Amino acid sequence: MAHLLIAEDDELLRDGLRAIFTQAGHEVSTCVNGALAWEAIQTEAFDAVVLDLGLPLLDGFQVLARLRQRWPTLPVLILTARDGVEDRVAGLNAGADDYLTKPFNLDELLARVQAMLRRANLPAHATPATPNTADALRIDTERPRAWLGNTAIDLTQREWELLQLLWANFGQVVSREAVLAAWQTPDGDNTPLASNALEVYVHRLRRKLGDAPLTIRNVRGLGYLLQSLPHG
Ligand code: CA
Repeated sequence: MAHLLIAEDDELLRDGLRAIFTQAGHEVSTCVNGALAWEAIQTEAFDAVVLDLGLPLLDGFQVLARLRQRWPTLPVLILTARDGVEDRVAGLNAGADDYLTKPFNLDELLARVQAMLRRANLPAHATPATPNTADALRIDTERPRAWLGNTAIDLTQREWELLQLLWANFGQVVSREAVLAAWQTPDGDNTPLASNALEVYVHRLRRKLGDAPLTIRNVRGLGYLLQSLPHG
């Protein structure tokens, strides 16, 4: 369960968002304008924020800018208008982790927020993460690095993308095809990969994870699986 803040001035949409996240077992706070959202962010500990950009009093950009100064890693998904390509770009540049364009499917929003929470893997932004089993791993969402407890691990772009993908699907098999597709991002490194490249990256990543209570399992014929090592 996570504590979520929903900042949305459209009452119908706000009620819909509250309903779907509550049904999914999350604790939800809602705000009708940007000033109240900023006040809530400063006084309560949230695990993620769903932020409409078009809000009264303070707009979503202003809320996001203030929030990012103090909480650089708090996951934020912005909601933008259908034709707001520039807003979307500006929102991502201002530090949003993800976006959805209105009108959107509520189930997709739920899935995106859950993925954001898994990636962030932070119990709450206001309290330091306590390392326990798999939680000892934290992955930077903006730059290719991660931490095991307090030890930083330097990762290459591809190692980082691979680790994020496995982490977002923790305990589930990720197919070779899914990894290769994730690597083919428009702004990524599109150098053609040798046929055994994935194995090489997995091997290196395993080595970098070193003493972590985690392992990357090769599930023959299917793909790779990140899982916790049994204790002891
Ligand atoms: Ca609005």
